[in-house]
Amino acid sequence: MHAAGAEAKGGAPADCRLGPSKGPWVEKLQSLRGMVDLLPAHTPLWQKVEATAREHFRRAGVQEIRTPLLEATELFARGIGEATDVVGKEMYTFTDRGDRSCTLRPEGTASVVRAAIQHGLLSQGSQRLWYGGPMFRYERPQAGRQRQFHQIGLEFLGFAAARSDVEAIAIAWDLLADLGVQGLALELNTLGSADDRRRYRHELVAWLEAHRDRLDPDSQQRITSNPLRVLDSKVPQTQALLEGAPSLADALRGESHERFAQVRFGLEALGIPFELNPRLVRGLDYYSHTAFEITSTQLGAQATVCGGGRYDGLVEQLGGAPTPAIGWALGMERLVLLLEQAAGDAAAGPAPDLYLVNRGEAAEPAALALARKLRRAGLSVELDSSGAAFGKQFKRADRSGAAWAAVLGDAEVEQGVVRLRPLRGEGQERQLPLAPPEELAALVRDRIGLMDRP
Ligand code: ATP
Ligand code: MG
Repeated sequence: MHAAGAEAKGGAPADCRLGPSKGPWVEKLQSLRGMVDLLPAHTPLWQKVEATAREHFRRAGVQEIRTPLLEATELFARGIGEATDVVGKEMYTFTDRGDRSCTLRPEGTASVVRAAIQHGLLSQGSQRLWYGGPMFRYERPQAGRQRQFHQIGLEFLGFAAARSDVEAIAIAWDLLADLGVQGLALELNTLGSADDRRRYRHELVAWLEAHRDRLDPDSQQRITSNPLRVLDSKVPQTQALLEGAPSLADALRGESHERFAQVRFGLEALGIPFELNPRLVRGLDYYSHTAFEITSTQLGAQATVCGGGRYDGLVEQLGGAPTPAIGWALGMERLVLLLEQAAGDAAAGPAPDLYLVNRGEAAEPAALALARKLRRAGLSVELDSSGAAFGKQFKRADRSGAAWAAVLGDAEVEQGVVRLRPLRGEGQERQLPLAPPEELAALVRDRIGLMDRP
């Protein structure tokens, strides 16, 4: 009775308890809801996406920045805004042992801007930065929506021209195209300048107040907290009602129209197709001008792979000098889902160059030494450490996907040789001298057709 009461008041939840006091049956430990293991069958595709992104950033002169996963809660309250779902409902926030309120980062931009200000990067000139890694949001998990998920993002800090919006979008578009993602659409909108939006906000709030009783409860709340976000409501009745709302485009001044036209012409000149979506908003005051999303029809409800826009007011909001900026973030899980759908089964992991079959008192330690030498020379070697009969080891060698097996028994060690046996395709079994190691590695490369590899 006592124990149950303590638990209800926030003691260790049942799935965290372990120990002999519960008897010999230990409850199964599971990952937390929404926190997903990435198993070896899936890592090759993730590595491919990461390597491709890295290469695209390198070619575009974009440098990597890495910031802590844990930040002061205030950074996100100020950098994302209290009125957003992310800050209002989705953050993993706790008090640490020093009584500070800490939050696991729900996104990357606020941290990148904080770091740029903290280390004076902006006084060294404009910055072309990218980041990647896990983000945390307490949301309802479903396909393409997790509580720990991963983003790759780009931030151009100190870039004001419309052509930098075009360049930032082009980098995302080209990366996705290079990865072979099909069926993507780029949706584009402009939020205008801060002034435009202030004027528009007045008009919109007046209209929303007049229609308050026909709005869904969430939208009613947002009239005061974050009225622009009402435009983004997913509730069908609200969407239908909004057809009659004043439009942001009508509130834009000439300069904002001109700027948006430059972005559109820039995209057209690069042959990047887009659709205008006047409902696409990012409802925070420091967002301005370009807003965009890249979506796929293959993803169901979680359709957005990449989202971004201009945030000219953020650096100042976080204590830096006024600095124009544009950026985007893409969701790795959703991207990988798309690639897996296109590829069918998950790609197999890479096969080793060589599978080392070995058995015997002298052969087993010699095989370990040989594997190290060959690995040092750049070959990938899977070492059988089962001590099983040769026949069993050969079966495993076959399953490994390696094209060649190296065979080492006590007899070979005594003669100072290793045998190379082809596992698939053509090729003849041969014998190579075990020493010296440099020559052996070169010979192995030669025999198994890897001469060209660095
Ligand atoms: P959504 O409307 O899908 O919640 P968002 O506007 O909250 O997206 P952003 O903050 O713009 O998303 O993040 C950029 C991208 O990160 C999204 O387009 C999406 O691909 C990905 N993403 C966001 N939240 C999650 C999540 N919980 N799980 C997986 N991916 C996510
Ligand atoms: Mg979200």
